[in-house]
Amino acid sequence: MPTSAAQTESTTREPDTSDAEARRAARQATSDAVRLTAPKLHEVLKYPDPVLVRKGERVTEFGPELATLVEEMFDTMYAAQGIGLAAPQIGISKQIAVVDVSFKERPEDKLVLINPVVLEQEGSQVEEEGCLSLPEIREKVRRAGWVKVRAQNAQGESFEVEGEELLARCLLHEIDHLNGILFIDHLSRLKRDLVLRRIKKLQRNGEW
Ligand code: ZN
Repeated sequence: MPTSAAQTESTTREPDTSDAEARRAARQATSDAVRLTAPKLHEVLKYPDPVLVRKGERVTEFGPELATLVEEMFDTMYAAQGIGLAAPQIGISKQIAVVDVSFKERPEDKLVLINPVVLEQEGSQVEEEGCLSLPEIREKVRRAGWVKVRAQNAQGESFEVEGEELLARCLLHEIDHLNGILFIDHLSRLKRDLVLRRIKKLQRNGEW
């Protein structure tokens, strides 16, 4: 154990205060550096938190604060094993979402979507969907098969992105979040009621 080793060392060696001081300072500097680079993770809020059903505000200020938030959102998303995260899910009611359908495999798949809007959508796909705010719940959802989205990046520059299959699904799921819509809102009334009943049961059992 480091503590006992250090104690042994100091009792068997000539006491050297400045050396010990230096080592302590070095240790402190290291832990400060670790703290500065360690990702700040946000708590992912679960349904039925009211922020999840509220439309997020448009982002008008693009600066270092936003850039930091976006990085924290990526860190939070990866830590939760997600491929998309919207700001309302961490309690921030703003039009900000991050997406990475390759989960760190391809850097070009990392997308920052500020104030995104769906310009066009075509076709349809039905696949199982999940959500970090609805853990354990997975249901088939019908979505467009292809979408074109316009958004701004963290610097405020406007861009367009097209996606099909998983990327289309993910873009639509995250943009829904920014409008207060959850994937269970796309289910039939019957299926949605079943899901809500399941959530209530999980809540009762303290598992939600
Ligand atoms: Zn979600």
